[in-house]
Amino acid sequence: MVDDAHGVGVLGKGRGTPAQQNQQPDLLIGTLSKALGSYGGYVAADRPVIELIRNRARSLIYTTGLPPAAIGAALAALDIMENDPDLCAKPLMAAQYFCQALGLPEPQSAVVPLILGSAEKALAAQAKLLARGYLVVAIRPPTVPDGTARLRFSFSASHRQRDIDGLIAALQDTGIIS
Ligand SMILES: *Cc1c(COP(=O)(O)O)cnc(C)c1O
Repeated sequence: MVDDAHGVGVLGKGRGTPAQQNQQPDLLIGTLSKALGSYGGYVAADRPVIELIRNRARSLIYTTGLPPAAIGAALAALDIMENDPDLCAKPLMAAQYFCQALGLPEPQSAVVPLILGSAEKALAAQAKLLARGYLVVAIRPPTVPDGTARLRFSFSASHRQRDIDGLIAALQDTGIIS
């Protein structure tokens, strides 16, 4: 099973991690709420598996269907992804640029963690960046293991070079990264 929440729309020319790695998982799940900018999600699998989920998954059966506007937005995003692979490549390129500038390991996705240690440290760094106009979220235990609280940078296709340069400068000026 592959959870491609961070891959779809970004990796493999937008087609996601299985396309990038030339694999076909038995179960492929993903969200419409990240790269696609809408809401909801999907499961791709063989018909019997889909029928089982449709008839047995309580979280699906007892949840109201998605609003038509959200489905319309996701379909429009799929059209864009299909026709504009360069746009899909931008978030990862932004992450790569960012990591290279700061000497961080080469990113595998457009979401880049910077491990700071304590929750207090991560929250303080988040506040410093917010004061400079950058929304970077602190991720703390229990979402991540104790002692590995971090900042999580999420790059998008709409970030410009100067946005990323400004973020790099903010990280250095505030002493979050030396
Ligand atoms: C965001 C995310 C989800 C959940 O997506 P929702 O649409 O918010 O339910 C699931 N798996 C991973 C790995 C995610 O990053």
